[in-house]
Amino acid sequence: GESDMDLRGCRVLSEHYYMWSDSGFRSKLKTFLGSKSLSGRVSAVDEKQYPDFFKLATVEGTLYKLPDFVLDTASLLQVLAGKQREHIFRLASESYSFERDDKNQVSAIAIADGKKEFSIEAQRFIFSAGKGNKQLINDAGLENAKSQLRPLNMVYVKGKNLPKVFVHCIGDSFSLTPKLTITSHEDVDGTTVWYLGGELAESGVAKDRESQIKAARSLLHNLFPWMDFEETEFNCFTIDRAEANINNNYRPEDAFCIEESNVFVAWPTKLTLTPNLADKIIERLSVSNLTPTPTANHRGLSDVLEAAEIATSRWD
Ligand SMILES: Cc1cc2nc3c(=O)[nH]c(=O)nc-3n(C[C@H](O)[C@H](O)[C@H](O)COP(=O)(O)OP(=O)(O)OC[C@H]3O[C@@H](n4cnc5c(N)ncnc54)[C@H](O)[C@@H]3O)c2cc1C
Repeated sequence: GESDMDLRGCRVLSEHYYMWSDSGFRSKLKTFLGSKSLSGRVSAVDEKQYPDFFKLATVEGTLYKLPDFVLDTASLLQVLAGKQREHIFRLASESYSFERDDKNQVSAIAIADGKKEFSIEAQRFIFSAGKGNKQLINDAGLENAKSQLRPLNMVYVKGKNLPKVFVHCIGDSFSLTPKLTITSHEDVDGTTVWYLGGELAESGVAKDRESQIKAARSLLHNLFPWMDFEETEFNCFTIDRAEANINNNYRPEDAFCIEESNVFVAWPTKLTLTPNLADKIIERLSVSNLTPTPTANHRGLSDVLEAAEIATSRWD
């Protein structure tokens, strides 16, 4: 609340993330702990301090605490959007086109939806539409920005008796992707929802709903045999990670932005790297000596454009 961005109002779901390793995977764990992002940041948890869920474990394993905390992204979006409500609009994809000036730079977005026609001019445009960047890159005729998608088949489990768990379960494969990652949420009725990702979601992309749910049930049963999933409801959906394609489809390590024809195309790569992305863009704007100009005309926009709403969670 005291630095550039006041995020008071954003809920923290958990002060810590945990990592659980079945006893058979110690050597694998060493590789994982040595990885760039985790190096030196992990501590083993004394069994007496285990969260209730792991106190009940009937299999041998070791629990580690990571210094990462977990945000409620819905409340983060509310807080961020709340500061800019009168500037955030939605547009139908067929209603806009980009205009170029005599130096062939993108200079305006022309909007025409049958009833109204106008254009929005800007000193720079920033595309940060996640998966939607691909369409915007095409629409603006940009040549250098390239995007990539990494698909996932995410599973969620709803159950009144599910405890709140935030954990990576380390597997025995050679990849650094955890076998299973669990974050816990609540649906509109207050029922706990486990959101399951990691290797389960990556390997589940080619599976239909029934097979993916079966795989999730079997994995949960193997990892947590002390848990009863009788009274729970399983579901799954596919979703893509959208990133810059800067190195032959490999996962980028950092937030990325590329500038072309007066447009920044930006992907944070991870939500946690969003502040880093903002710093990069601000730095480039200041190098170009760009400062905001008064936006007296924006007031008229709310008469002609619809406000964008925040979407609901997939489990609501
Ligand atoms: C299953 C999953 C789990 C993840 N877990 C984590 C995690 O634990 N930690 C982490 O740090 N990151 C995580 N990520 C990555 C993180 O979600 C993304 O890096 C982040 O959301 C990207 O933010 P963004 O605003 O660039 O894009 P998005 O969040 O995708 O938002 C893009 C917005 O642009 C809008 N849009 C689309 N097209 C257009 C258009 N033509 N015009 C205008 N608007 C448009 C969309 O409606 C959307 O609102 C996860 C991603 C997935 C898929």
